[in-house]
Formats: sequence, structure tokens, C-alpha cells
Amino acid sequence: MFIPSFIFPSGLKLSKVVLIKLDPGMLIAAVSTQKCSACPCCGKRSKSVHGFYDRSLADLPVSGREVKVILRVRKFFCKNRNCLRKVFTERFIDQIKPYGRCFSRSADMVRSVGLKLGGNKGADLCKVIGYPISSSTVLRTLAGIRVSPTTLTSGTIGVDDWAYKKGRNYGTIIVDLIKKEVIDLLPDREADTLADWLKAHPEVHTVSRDRASAYAQGIRNGACDAIQVADRFHLLVNLKDAFQRSLRSHSSVIKKCFEEIGTRQAGLPKTEEMKPESGEISTLPSPTEEEARTVGNVGPDRQFKFKKAKELHQKGYSIKAIAKQLGAGRKTIRKYIASECLVSREVIRSRTLTNFCDFESELISLSQSQTTYLNLFNHISENGFDGKYSQFCIRMNKLIDDGKSAKARSNKVRPLLKPIRTWSLSKLAHIALAKT
Ligand SMILES: [Zn+2]
Repeated sequence: MFIPSFIFPSGLKLSKVVLIKLDPGMLIAAVSTQKCSACPCCGKRSKSVHGFYDRSLADLPVSGREVKVILRVRKFFCKNRNCLRKVFTERFIDQIKPYGRCFSRSADMVRSVGLKLGGNKGADLCKVIGYPISSSTVLRTLAGIRVSPTTLTSGTIGVDDWAYKKGRNYGTIIVDLIKKEVIDLLPDREADTLADWLKAHPEVHTVSRDRASAYAQGIRNGACDAIQVADRFHLLVNLKDAFQRSLRSHSSVIKKCFEEIGTRQAGLPKTEEMKPESGEISTLPSPTEEEARTVGNVGPDRQFKFKKAKELHQKGYSIKAIAKQLGAGRKTIRKYIASECLVSREVIRSRTLTNFCDFESELISLSQSQTTYLNLFNHISENGFDGKYSQFCIRMNKLIDDGKSAKARSNKVRPLLKPIRTWSLSKLAHIALAKT
């Protein structure tokens, strides 16, 4: 198959080029036809061929397909008698590095992607475009970049720590904040190391740093006249910490606010409506002897509690205070306040009364088999069940739940305000900062 020469790196002299289509990539086999090559030790060029061998090289993808090149190259004898190297491999100065597993242009692409995206994301992108490599390969390529020494031209620098090996070895990175270039890497993050570096660079007049005390001490020792400023990230961290401290100092107020929000979401009376009116005492009057006897000694009197809850609510007392005074739950008090009249238990019971109990034993045995609620309902309806399907489902669920442990049932109950109460102060601070 004809392969245009421009798809290869310029300068390569190849022959016998063969394209082999693979699934999903492609393989190109070729033979190098360079007449001679220079010895890497002495530089003397040689035409004396020792032998051949194949190099496997990755090239840039074509149409999203991975491209592998098997290139047959030669070994040459070095004719320089004074050279230590007797045999050397064919060199491709610009196109392929010695011992390289890819063309130089492929490495350039990986380097560019790695500089923009880093290891993991860079590897992901390369895989998408048809050049599958690992994140380690991206990082290794980046590590091979030769950084030319940069001179400090401005007196404004930033210092921070960075990890040679995360969690183990840390060094200090120094950045020229005007040129936005890394100008040096220090082997550790000790105060003395930074102080020594600053003494060698007296032109430094402003240093941006994090909150580490070692850097503060190092700057004082090495450049006592330099101005120390907190970097932008740590300014925000300081602001967040201050905001969190402020929230903690008002945690009781915040908690009340969220309780009120939870009450509103549940469609219950507002907290403000339950607070005592101004001028009134904040505690309930002591119950009369008759009330105390009714509430505490004789037993629960629903009619009394219902009327008393209504009365106290109209006076402006909170649900919590009413519940505490009457010895009832807050949920019960809310229900009393929201109701126009008190419905007797007999009425409630009569509304849901069916002859379900007559079929319980039969349903328990039938439910062991793989059948649906609808089939069971149809079955007992034909045998005289007088309830509705919804009533049947409620009773059937209860019948099944009764067979489970009480602990498992209690786990199904979710507190009304739990989602709001679990918000951390840290999250609140982040939300507030994000809106500024
Ligand atoms: Zn040589």
C-alpha cells in the first residue's frame, strides 16, 4: 500500500514501507536506508555495517487510530581505533532518541498535553485521541524536560512547599511572581534553607508565603527587610476560619433558624407564632391541682390536653413549652393545634376497621409463595374481605413488618430535621464564601 512520505518525520530515509491494518490501530513496517551514522563516543562517522535489529516505536495517531512503527535499523562498527566503543547503533538525531520507544514528535505531544493537564488527565486525553499511555509515562516525559536556569529579575517572589513524594519528602518551590516562572527548588522546607537562599538574593523585597511558621522565620533570618504577605489562597483560608469561628459563636441562633425552616417545610405553625408575646412571662403558669391530677396522676386525658394546647397556643406559648407542661410529645401538640376538633380513637379505629384479621393466618401462608399483593387481595376479596386495596396493603405491610425486628423498623424512621441539622459549619462557610 502506498504511504505518503510526509506522514513520517522529516529527514528519515526509509524504504520497504508496509502498512498493516490492525483492529483498532495500524502497524507500519519500514527499513532505514541511512548510508552511515556517527559514533556516539568519538563522533566518527561509519559505513561499516555490523548487523540489523528492529525497533518498536509509537507514532502520532492517524484518524484516531493508534500507530505503531517497526523500524529495521543497523549497527555499525566504529573505525576509530582509539574509541572505546567498537559497535554502535544507528542514530537518528532529531527524529528518535537513543533507547526511545517513540518518535520525538510523539514525546513532544505528550509533553504538551502533560504540561496542560497533568498526569492522569493527560493520559486520559491521549487515550481518547488514539495514543494510549499511562499517567506515569506522562509524568516521566515531563520529568525529562530540561529547565534552563532562570535569573531573578523582580524582587517579588512566592514560596510554598511541594512534594517530591507526597506524604514523605517535601521541598520548597520559589516562584517569580512578576514573571510567573519557577526560579528554584529547595531540597527541604526548613527555615535555614530558605534563609540561605534569600541571603544569596538580596534583591528580594516582597515574599508571598503560606501560614507555615518555618517560612516566616526563614524570611526574617534571610531577608529581614522584605515584606511578608499571605498568598491569596491562605487569605481565603483565614477568612473561612474567621467566618467559621463567628458561626460557632452564634450556633444556638443558627440552630433555631434551621429548626424554623424545617417546621415551615413540614407545613407546621411558624416558630414566631409559638413564642410568648412581649410583656408576658416566658414560663407557663403552674398547673392547677385538678390539671395536675388529670395529667400526671389519673392518666392521659386527650380532651383536656387538646383544649389546653389550643388555649396555650393562643396565648403564644411555644410548642416545646406546651408539650413539656402537658406531658405530651411535640408532634402530638402540633397535631392538636392543626386540628379543628379532637377525633376520638374509636372513630379513627372505625375508619380503618376491616375483617382483615380473619384472613391473617391464610395470608401468612400464601405470602410464602411468590405472589403479588394484588393476587392476594383478589383472593381474599372473593372470600369476603370487606376492605379496599389500599387498606389491604397497609395491613399487609404491617403484618410482614411484625415479623421483623423492632430495631429494623425503627431504622426506617427518619428525623424530620435531620438533613438540615447535619449541615456542617464548614459547609456553610464555603457556601457563604462562594456567594461573595
Ligand atoms: Zn567511536
